[in-house]
Amino acid sequence: MMQVMRAVSATALAGALAFGPVWTAAAETTTRPDAAAKAKTEAASQSDGVAGTPADDKKVEERITEFTLDNGLQVVVLPDHRAPVVTQMVYYHVGAADEAPGESGIAHFLEHLMFKGTKANPEGAFSKAVADIGGQENAFTTDDYTGYYQQVPASELKMVMEFEADRMANLVLTDEVVAPERNVILEERRMRVDNDPGAQLQEAVGAALFQNSPYGIPVIGWRGEMEQLSRDDAIAFYDKYYTPNNATLLVAGDVTAEEVRRLAEETYGKVARRADPGDRERALEPEPLAARTVTLSDPKVTQPSMQRVYLVPSETTAEPGEAEALDVLSDILGGGTTSRLYRSLVVDKAIAAGTGTYYGGTALKEGQFVVYGMPRGDASLADIETAIDDEIAKIRETGVTEAELERAKNRVRKNMIYLRDSQTAMARRVGAALSTGRTLRDVETWPDRIEAVTVEAVNAAARKYLEPKRSVTGYLTPQAPAAASAAPDAGGDAARESGADAAAPAAAPSRS
Ligand SMILES: [Zn+2]
Repeated sequence: MMQVMRAVSATALAGALAFGPVWTAAAETTTRPDAAAKAKTEAASQSDGVAGTPADDKKVEERITEFTLDNGLQVVVLPDHRAPVVTQMVYYHVGAADEAPGESGIAHFLEHLMFKGTKANPEGAFSKAVADIGGQENAFTTDDYTGYYQQVPASELKMVMEFEADRMANLVLTDEVVAPERNVILEERRMRVDNDPGAQLQEAVGAALFQNSPYGIPVIGWRGEMEQLSRDDAIAFYDKYYTPNNATLLVAGDVTAEEVRRLAEETYGKVARRADPGDRERALEPEPLAARTVTLSDPKVTQPSMQRVYLVPSETTAEPGEAEALDVLSDILGGGTTSRLYRSLVVDKAIAAGTGTYYGGTALKEGQFVVYGMPRGDASLADIETAIDDEIAKIRETGVTEAELERAKNRVRKNMIYLRDSQTAMARRVGAALSTGRTLRDVETWPDRIEAVTVEAVNAAARKYLEPKRSVTGYLTPQAPAAASAAPDAGGDAARESGADAAAPAAAPSRS
């Protein structure tokens, strides 16, 4: 039986905040050592959307199956018989933005603690079982969801389902395991944020962009609050959110829907519904009134860069057609070597080592539109920003062409083919969508909605959303600019300030 069961409330939303290539995807933290690569993959899959020709869509509709167990667990099956391998993913519909005030980092902390074992399967047993059969595993936390996955030989699917179902209900957390793991996440913060100027700036940009929304709080947490996270906090979070009716199981690979249904009922079907997390609350982000700039200067910076992040709707909050228009706009402005920014900054003016854009539309609430650039040769950050401003002004004043629109749609189609071709990429895309207030059908119809985007819609999105007052501009530099060097706290500290003139954001890193 195939049916769509999860009611999507209009207030439900969320989004994994992912950022363009200049800035590592700090919003997503992962447990395993290959974290950075995984985070980038996630960011890419979120930005790509799902594209494809109408003919392909039919195939997808036949092959992706969705059903719900009696305990409320949503199950999605994505068959792919090219190799005898399966990937199991469980997405809990809870992330850092669901944390209670003062408990930043608890979602990610619990992700770590989920590896501490149960009565039946002590710490390490699950990971060892996966490793023993040559499998891979990972876990990740974002603002809106937390995921766990394993890739194993198809014959071992039931085994990993048993383990994952067991820790959905029977996690054992003692002070002996919780305290040392808190040191692990503090060390993770030190290595990935406190020692990385790019990540520090990223955090400051996020905090400046979101003035009220929890999306402004880093997924890994603020250090002072992380230090206070307790075993009781972790257990309370687990009991409230790690219940089958708050999760989606995705199985991709060499399986049939019938097999997955049978195995899911034998394993997850035995897990009782433990709580009802209710509607997902997010503090309202007000309409922004002033352009803001953030500067971080640190001697460790070898490549200066600038980034502009605009507050825009997500795929979940956008008016019909707007998210699709923003996706196409991003492609025309900064998607690859035929984009306007690349041709202007890298090819014609030869002032940039790299430039591009990114639409982060996978979120329960607000989305982000990111533009970035890195100078090369004698060019300064100011040169880069001026050139980017010129291109944005041009696109807002005179709009895009039909030819550009067609090229962009072609690229989105190609991205879709890539997504379909990857056993895990499509599952991740579906898992993220179902965890941020959207449906399988939304994912499946994305290509048709991209095809329907018009020049007028793209132009309207550019004029409405690429407004300076909606943005924060972040500068990463090797040393403080002259105007800043006299400030008492110049140096490694992230500075946060509001630009005085929304219509004319600072052309160079500056502090007042
Ligand atoms: Zn971690």
